[in-house]
Amino acid sequence: MMIDEATGRRRSNNLILDTALRDFYSAADEMHLSEGLIQILSYPERRVDVSVPVEMDDGTVKVFQGFRVQHSTALGPSKGGIRYAMDVTGQECEGLAMLMTWKCSLAGIPYGGGKGGICCDPTYMSHKEKERMSRTFGARIAPIIGRWSDVPAPDMYTGGQEMVWIMDTICKMLGHFEPAMLTGKPIDYWGAPGRTEATGRGLAACAFELMRQKGLDPTKIKAAVQGFGNVGSYAAKILNEAGVKIVAISDTTGAYYNPNGIDIKKAFEYMNTNPGKRGRKLTGFEKEGCEKIPGDEIIGLDCDFFCPCAAQGALNENTAGKLKAKYVFEGANSPTTPEAELILNDKGVIVVPDFLANAGGVIGSYYEWAQNLQGFTWTEEEYNKRLVALMTDNFRRVWDYAQEHNSTMRRSAYIAAIKRVTDIVELRGVYL
Ligand code: NAD
Repeated sequence: MMIDEATGRRRSNNLILDTALRDFYSAADEMHLSEGLIQILSYPERRVDVSVPVEMDDGTVKVFQGFRVQHSTALGPSKGGIRYAMDVTGQECEGLAMLMTWKCSLAGIPYGGGKGGICCDPTYMSHKEKERMSRTFGARIAPIIGRWSDVPAPDMYTGGQEMVWIMDTICKMLGHFEPAMLTGKPIDYWGAPGRTEATGRGLAACAFELMRQKGLDPTKIKAAVQGFGNVGSYAAKILNEAGVKIVAISDTTGAYYNPNGIDIKKAFEYMNTNPGKRGRKLTGFEKEGCEKIPGDEIIGLDCDFFCPCAAQGALNENTAGKLKAKYVFEGANSPTTPEAELILNDKGVIVVPDFLANAGGVIGSYYEWAQNLQGFTWTEEEYNKRLVALMTDNFRRVWDYAQEHNSTMRRSAYIAAIKRVTDIVELRGVYL
């Protein structure tokens, strides 16, 4: 545990957790929050570390490390994804869970923040190995998961299949069916039509509202989208359908650039037929009329919007200075480091922060949970209509506050989000 000697406040060696803590302290100080409230919210309420032994296909046994963190349940059950990646640690999950608390609060939905994951490289695991790992992980976090306690969802390198394995295991342990314990399920298995596109649709809704506020014509806008996974691909598709020219997309294989605009429909078709492993689906896409450039160079391309939708820390002190775009829509969680944020602020770049721009996923999850509790399915149209209305409204609230107080979008979003949580913590008292 790292405590800053000067302030007595918690810090971390983990980039995501430390960024989340620093952003929180800075907003909390501006709000003149009491030190007691700051201390309460700088720690998670609960963190469970589990070992996940898996019998591999070659008969050997590997033990993976898994985590589930509940940062706050002040507003309701904790909510947040489960990711499978090599950089997953307990502290990373703590930082991401904290971000979920602010995201749910800002979105105006009745959830606290949670996060979990397993430290592993799923791209080198077989389907059966992933199944055994997901089921054991599910069994080990089962005591703290539930529709009224903690509701996980997919995150990086997990999807409907992993949710089914985890839910099926826990339901078998419980002896009854519980569809609202997880979201992001396949549509035919208590999922919600619209959820797959929800995060990208939400990001696009923010971009459309910004264009309305600034009087920008979508057909004159050029955008670059880093990360062509779930968030980035649908954000690119929806923006492109409204006339925005997508000049570059990227994945772990590199960036693909066409100043005249990439055919996003073709990119989807290519990705869906390319046998490249998950996350490497664009390999070879330069054959479709694009120039292939090194992945990081997407940041310095000539465009108006930059959408980092891949991993954390993409905009950092080494890359932020190269950015040409005037607007950043953070699809990924924590793609901008605090040092980069200062550089971007100096350049006059408007950053629409992650917990506002990518909240479409959790809002969509909330709609799925609500439908599961009711045992009633909405139409996709109804789902999308509600999602876009709520995202647009949330964007406008933050935008108006930022304009009125001459503040950044991130600071304004933090203040609104923290206020809703701290008001309830004060009402409920410290013995939560
Ligand atoms: P995904 O696994 O579907 O896609 C990730 C994409 O990013 C892949 O195309 C991968 O190749 C690419 N990528 C990874 N590292 C890269 C790099 N260094 N440079 C370029 N591309 C890189 O994941 P996703 O669900 O789209 O999530 C992306 C980000 O958005 C994560 O930070 C996640 O936490 C966040 N997020 C996702 C959701 C959601 O609903 N899926 C919701 C909120 C936030």
